[in-house]
Amino acid sequence: MPIWTPSPDPGDAEHAHRILRTPADKPLKAIITSPDPTGTYTHYAAGRTTPCESPNHCENCEEGHGRRWHGYLGIMLISTLEHAIFEYTAPTAEVLAGYYRQHGTLRGCGITAQRPSRKPNGRVHIATQPVDLQKWLLPDPLDVHKLLSHIWGIPTTQTLLKRTNLLKGDAIVPKPNGAPKTKPPGRDRKRTQTN
Ligand SMILES: [Zn+2]
Repeated sequence: MPIWTPSPDPGDAEHAHRILRTPADKPLKAIITSPDPTGTYTHYAAGRTTPCESPNHCENCEEGHGRRWHGYLGIMLISTLEHAIFEYTAPTAEVLAGYYRQHGTLRGCGITAQRPSRKPNGRVHIATQPVDLQKWLLPDPLDVHKLLSHIWGIPTTQTLLKRTNLLKGDAIVPKPNGAPKTKPPGRDRKRTQTN
């Protein structure tokens, strides 16, 4: 006899969260479920995004691939209630940082993200607005680091940067030298400067 349940066990759905970028053709409307912004430098090489390992040994840096900072937040889509990961770049990070400073959290922040040019890599415009949390039951925040590590096929969160402490006014886009793992910075830094 089957055991009927209304949904899969919570753990089963864990790897199903999609990474969503701002679409070109229509606005993305969602509510952020993550309290804190987080992100890391990434490379786009061989058709996929992978995290930059700098200041540790990074093959993509050595091969001369450029790198960009990407932020990641759990979001719940308004249209389908899908719980996904929103990927964004540095300009959007500044808007979100402003909201974060005002409210002390991003959870419950409604976002409308769109590309006015309607081109896939066009500039993103994002608007933020607090959402009435009496009206929405937000799911628990996603473990973004864990999910990304799984998607990227890396063992742990070691290569991801710790949360940026925006409330204390740190840089919005973390510098690679702020990576949590210890390493004498001298030698590695010299190598990256020659790139
Ligand atoms: Zn790299």
